[in-house]
Amino acid sequence: MPYAGSRTKDTGTWLLPADENAFDRLLRERIELIAWRCSHPGPVGLHPTHMHPTLAEAMACGSVQAFLHLPFGAALPQTVTLANGVRPPAGPPTEATVQLLRARIRNGHDGRSFEAGRLAVRWYENEVSPETHRTLVGQTRQIWSALTAATRLVRVDGREKPLFGFRIGQAAEAMIRETGGQLAVSGVLRFRLR
Ligand SMILES: [Zn+2]
Repeated sequence: MPYAGSRTKDTGTWLLPADENAFDRLLRERIELIAWRCSHPGPVGLHPTHMHPTLAEAMACGSVQAFLHLPFGAALPQTVTLANGVRPPAGPPTEATVQLLRARIRNGHDGRSFEAGRLAVRWYENEVSPETHRTLVGQTRQIWSALTAATRLVRVDGREKPLFGFRIGQAAEAMIRETGGQLAVSGVLRFRLR
């Protein structure tokens, strides 16, 4: 649920690493300053975080999620260091972060399911300048356009229209069709690919 004055974009994503790579490749082809910050479990500051040149590297370093800082090339907190291959960012301060949370395969008592991850960003329109707001809107559009190009609509049993607010990668779709698992959202909603 978006809060008053906030700009929120949040898309549920079923992506395997191959799909993440396809998305990241498109982003990096289109946007020069893409770098991903890794993320580690535990209290903030416990583990060092870095900017990585690729999403795959950030996910390999961290675990379940990675972040893009907006505007592209934004200056970073001093606690973040640069991995090899990342140009030192010299832009304005970070105004928003985009989260890519990994989808997870679960083997439960009721069978195998694939829990959606998400691509999400939020900022407060009244906390940034109009110019920054326009920049964030434009860059968010670029990121989601790459996601759209790298993924497909999700069509499931019992629904005429594709699932609103969700995308699935090609590799993820193939995996689900092969294994017969269900798509899950928040551990509760279950869907079967049509
Ligand atoms: Zn790292």
